Amino acid sequence: MTEQAAARQGLTDLVDSFGRVIGDLRISVTDRCNFRCTYCMPEEGMKWLPRSEVMSFEEIERLARIFVERYGVSGIRLTGGEPTVRAHLPVLVEKLARLEGPSGPVDLAMTTNGASMRTIAQTLRGAGLARVNISLDTLDRRRFLEMTRRDELERVLDGIEAAKEAGFSPVKINAVVQRGVNDDEIVALAGYGRDHEVEVRFIEFMPLDADGHWGSEKVVGQDEIVATIDAAYPLDRLAARGAAPADRFAYRDGRGLVGVIPTVTKPFCGDCDRVRLTAEGQFRTCLFATDEYDLMSAMRRGESDDDLATRIEAAVASKWAGHRINQVDFVRPAKSMSQIGG
Ligand code: SAM
Repeated sequence: MTEQAAARQGLTDLVDSFGRVIGDLRISVTDRCNFRCTYCMPEEGMKWLPRSEVMSFEEIERLARIFVERYGVSGIRLTGGEPTVRAHLPVLVEKLARLEGPSGPVDLAMTTNGASMRTIAQTLRGAGLARVNISLDTLDRRRFLEMTRRDELERVLDGIEAAKEAGFSPVKINAVVQRGVNDDEIVALAGYGRDHEVEVRFIEFMPLDADGHWGSEKVVGQDEIVATIDAAYPLDRLAARGAAPADRFAYRDGRGLVGVIPTVTKPFCGDCDRVRLTAEGQFRTCLFATDEYDLMSAMRRGESDDDLATRIEAAVASKWAGHRINQVDFVRPAKSMSQIGG
């Protein structure tokens, strides 16, 4: 579309004060989860949002439409909590998959723990979901139970196969690496990705765990992760990542790709094009933001799309240059990962 045609259709870029154009929206569809991963949630005592405070499908669709149709946001990722525990999720997927921006239909993806994929993968695929990322931090059943507090390794592994069978392409695996917890499995997880033709993305442990046990000594950095894999399976680094969060590498023997998301040791905020909506309709311009913008109340007060767009633009203008995890003045957000939507 030409600039003139875009202007005629009321389409504008959503640009922050550092010139970054927003292209990716993460939507948390629920704060609830059927796992209790130690790096994310406490074992007990999580306070769930009351149902009335969670965005309805119509509210999610309305906001998503503004981002896609008005601002040309091309990617939406559903997350949570665990998105598949939200009742009637395929109905929402169907609504969102129909959204179309200037560059065509929205690229609709989801991050899930994979435990329900055997039952729901085909339906989600049929409803228009294009891609899934499935979390898998260990291949050891006892360790899986310790890390997720659920004995569900077999179901997740089967869920990954179900996602492939349903035609999601690509299926990616998210593995959070913690020192002394699962850093001895980096090569095994990489090997799993090679054998099962899925792209594993190792994620540096971030200070977003509800228990507040994060410490920099528990982070295994990108350089170490890459060196560990490279020693077993030689790697070639791919070209610059652009706005994507993962640095990607190709196995030199041609058996696929592997990625690392180096949020802590090599922040990529300068290229960040992401914004987020929490399950209760709070708009965030950074995972680590300490401020939220209340779009839910604005919608429920009856504000127009133009009013909502003004709020969105003001919020994006305040997107900060970068998180300050490695700085002395870093302040942890009050919410943990599952409450924000990872
Ligand atoms: N329940 C889904 C899942 O398990 O993938 C989606 C929500 S989960 C919050 C999204 C992603 O955030 C997962 O890949 C999870 O491993 C990651 N995550 C959660 N807490 C994290 C932390 N403290 N540091 C790094 N990644 C984290």
